[in-house]
Amino acid sequence: MNEITVYIGLGSNLQNPVGQIKQAILALSKLPQTTLVKTSSLYTSDSLLAGQPRYTNAIVSISSQLAAETLLDLLQQIEHNQGRQRTQHWGARTLDLDIILYGNQQINTPRLTVPHSQMEQRSFVLIPLAEIAPDLILPNGRTITSLLAHCPSLNLRKLTESATTLLEPN
Ligand code: ATP
Ligand code: CA
Ligand code: CA
Repeated sequence: MNEITVYIGLGSNLQNPVGQIKQAILALSKLPQTTLVKTSSLYTSDSLLAGQPRYTNAIVSISSQLAAETLLDLLQQIEHNQGRQRTQHWGARTLDLDIILYGNQQINTPRLTVPHSQMEQRSFVLIPLAEIAPDLILPNGRTITSLLAHCPSLNLRKLTESATTLLEPN
């Protein structure tokens, strides 16, 4: 199977979010038939639901031979390994891993909508994505820059300047 470039969105707002994101990136780097290509800086953003702690976010790109649903299974396993509990929709979580883009493919199955259905409205996706893939064009023909012009800020702030240290031990 061909290598596909996949962008994965990471988020955490419980139990040491920075540590959770670093641990998840390490786990992503060990996925089968997959190479970790780029990692964005870490960002923090307001929760979409009022009253929750702020989130820590990042985007990574991987080059993978995994089918999209197989990748989703493995991402959910990583979430589970890091103590993710599914309670309330959009509830606070130790780790959320979303498939933002899977090559240039549009996928609509009961388990998977790709590109991620909310990506165009989320600065915590678009800004780290623009950092690692500034020239990216979505399957619908839009550029990241054009989307950012209309996206609410959610008080997004950069937490770390460089992501190159992310895989070093704590
Ligand atoms: P949101 O989708 O708004 O970011 P969420 O990440 O909190 O919300 P979850 O509870 O983590 O939602 O996931 C619910 C379901 O969404 C998953 O079980 C999965 O089947 C489905 N899903 C659909 N499209 C995707 C995608 N692109 N990436 C990850 N999960 C997806
Ligand atoms: Ca999500
Ligand atoms: Ca999710």
